Amino acid sequence: MSLSLEQTLTQAVEGIKSWARINSPWAIHYNSGSCNGCDIEILATLTPRYDLERLGVKLQGSPRHADILICTGPVTRQSRERLLRIYEQMPNPKYVVAVGSCGISGGVFQGCYNIIGSIDEILPVDAYIPGCPPRPEAIMDGVIKLLQSLKKGGAS
Ligand code: SF4
Repeated sequence: MSLSLEQTLTQAVEGIKSWARINSPWAIHYNSGSCNGCDIEILATLTPRYDLERLGVKLQGSPRHADILICTGPVTRQSRERLLRIYEQMPNPKYVVAVGSCGISGGVFQGCYNIIGSIDEILPVDAYIPGCPPRPEAIMDGVIKLLQSLKKGGAS
């Protein structure tokens, strides 16, 4: 059965949108309870020395424009609602990257009275970047693997 002109155009537009998203994803960064060590490494990743933007990844401020949520730290009781609100405001399809041991497992904050736990206890995580803190090379490696996985049609 052949497609109508409208269906063909819709498919073409969706294909272009998907291609643009994967080749130039916009990311938002959120600290859900980190000690700031991981956040400083993310900033270093954006500096001219490492220059994550040359891979097309652009950090920007609004969740409504973001494709990737880069999250650091364990999730505290105070930050849980904000984290959920940010995720819900992001348009589909959206991806979550957990940066650092605390985001992956709670790390050194495990068992603290104000800690809920790892990021994947709250949100579906697509990529994990371990380390305390992970170096900029590791963060770039994780983001590149996520993008490669998206190009193949899935997440890591
Ligand atoms: S993984 Fe290390 S640097 Fe990152 S938030 Fe936890 S303690 Fe801090």
